Amino acid sequence: MTLPSFNPPQPDTDHAVSRLRTSRLAASSKPYVARGAGLVRCAGCRLIVSHCICDLRPSVPTRVGVCLLMGDIEALKPSNTGWLIADVVADTWAFGWARTAVAPELLTLLADPQWQPYVVFPAEYAEAQQRVVTEVPAAAQGDGSGGKRPLFVLLDGTWSEARKMFRKSPYLDRLPVLSLHPEQVSSYRLRRSTQEHHFCTAEVAALCLALAGETRAAESLVAWFDVFSERYLCIREQLPLKPDSEAHQRLAQLAERTAGADALQVPQNVR
Ligand SMILES: [Zn+2]
Repeated sequence: MTLPSFNPPQPDTDHAVSRLRTSRLAASSKPYVARGAGLVRCAGCRLIVSHCICDLRPSVPTRVGVCLLMGDIEALKPSNTGWLIADVVADTWAFGWARTAVAPELLTLLADPQWQPYVVFPAEYAEAQQRVVTEVPAAAQGDGSGGKRPLFVLLDGTWSEARKMFRKSPYLDRLPVLSLHPEQVSSYRLRRSTQEHHFCTAEVAALCLALAGETRAAESLVAWFDVFSERYLCIREQLPLKPDSEAHQRLAQLAERTAGADALQVPQNVR
């Protein structure tokens, strides 16, 4: 019997990055061979089925939106963390980036008056320093006061792809550049005791969520990323799976807290 390389997709994993992956695969003239291509993966989380995390996926409301501009094969990589953002942040968009073309839907999104887009990039790369901001208004202020919801534009690819996207996308030139402060970055590193120099896209998104005051969504995204990374590493290094590890416990605690907060909330019918 031949097993399919992916299980049938779960309906709720139909999100922006999974759709981009599907269309990018359809556009390929030759098959994309990911690392560990012979493994039977879950279409929902991209891990091998014995390590599937779909049942643990957090569900957290947030008023923040994320717009991913993705490097050529980024959506195809089983390790891409933009996928994890789309799992957690309901309003996530994903576009394949090309120097010579731009999707009209992307321009429409950036011009939509309900959103205030920010390109998230280090300040030193912005030629006009007056474009640089280091704070965003709390996302919750968008509630009924006419305030705009923050939309974080994240350049998801290799560092050289990201720089190229930043320099060669004229439609980004008029947007504010959100540069994460060094204090915020170092306190995040300290809490997680990580020495990594580069954050992955999901970590950058979590920092942006925290900056917009969406603490619970930020914590859930970090915990989701940690559980994904742990299991991804288990598979790669052939280590035993630890379903009660610290990362798993934190994700479960956050899910409980979210469920508790939802139960306490008065139902809102007005929208
Ligand atoms: Zn899964």
